[in-house]
Amino acid sequence: MAEVRLTGVNKFYGATQALHAVSLTIEDGEFAVFVGPSGCGKSTLLRSIAGLEEISEGSIHIGDRDVTRAAPSERDVAMVFQSYALYPHMTVRENMDFGMKVNNFPYADRNRRIAEAARILQLEPYLDRKPSQLSGGQRQRVAIGRAIVKEPKVFLFDEPLSNLDAKLRVQMRVELEALHRTLGATMIYVTHDQVEAMTMADKIVVLNAGRIEQVGPPMELYNRPANLFVAGFIGAPAMNFLDVTLADGQAMHGAEPLGPAPENTVHLGIRPEHIALRPAGQGHMAVTVLLRETLGGDAYLYVRTGTGHQLVVRAEGDTALDHGAEVGLDLPPARRHHFAADGRALNP
Ligand code: ADP
Repeated sequence: MAEVRLTGVNKFYGATQALHAVSLTIEDGEFAVFVGPSGCGKSTLLRSIAGLEEISEGSIHIGDRDVTRAAPSERDVAMVFQSYALYPHMTVRENMDFGMKVNNFPYADRNRRIAEAARILQLEPYLDRKPSQLSGGQRQRVAIGRAIVKEPKVFLFDEPLSNLDAKLRVQMRVELEALHRTLGATMIYVTHDQVEAMTMADKIVVLNAGRIEQVGPPMELYNRPANLFVAGFIGAPAMNFLDVTLADGQAMHGAEPLGPAPENTVHLGIRPEHIALRPAGQGHMAVTVLLRETLGGDAYLYVRTGTGHQLVVRAEGDTALDHGAEVGLDLPPARRHHFAADGRALNP
């Protein structure tokens, strides 16, 4: 096991800069998730740690070793890909064995490692099957098994659940968390899905256009996003933003006074689940319901403010409010986020 330390990592593909001065430490045994929209550089960052991409500037340490120029095989990492990348003509056992066999591991050691991985991943009944005789989830477990038998210092996962259906993704999420607890290994996981990041990570690294926007535990990012980007990215449905002007320290949305706000506030953010519904004429703002989306336990109301701005509000699943209803909204001060014109959060 080992910590992973990146210092001032820049990566250029020709004239395109994919990573900008990325500095980051992932602690020994931590489950870190790199998350961000497509093209933000998360795969490049993971592949740089694996040694599959050469970084242009900066350094990478795994444990106390500088691996910046080391070959992938010398880094003591194992990577699990979205595509599984299993050998179709080999059985599950042979797929797991292959890397060890070509590296001349002793036979008994190989068997011990395969048996252990198969036990942890519940693959024992399938060891003699070929990948084509397995479900998608089982194939992904074999790919993970192939990483486990290497007994690496660091596991690297590149969107490993993207090819699975929604139900299986949830199941595999739980299995991966259990695996992390069992192995106690350092794991780095790349995804564009903020729900995966929130549910699995000890530490989330939010990337945008090749830069780190914020690093922290899931609930810290949820409760105290450092800027508009993180505020809008973490949480589903996304945080609502209202444009406000300040008059004597009071935020105004159009003609509606919303209460005190810090100096330089330009945007006020509030999550759908933190807005309270009130009868028409009460609360901080008057709105009209445009649409109700019922999920069962919850319903989401899409509402329009007097200025024509659209917000999402979480309500009880059995709410009677629907298209055309006039309601008031209460925006609890403790749940508000304030942002300056450059997107920086102004909350304490
Ligand atoms: P993500 O994994 O977040 O979707 P990537 O790390 O794949 O993003 O890509 C980051 C940026 O680098 C993108 O702008 C992408 O187009 C560019 N990029 C990635 N790989 C290459 C490559 N081999 N050659 C040129 N540009 C690349």
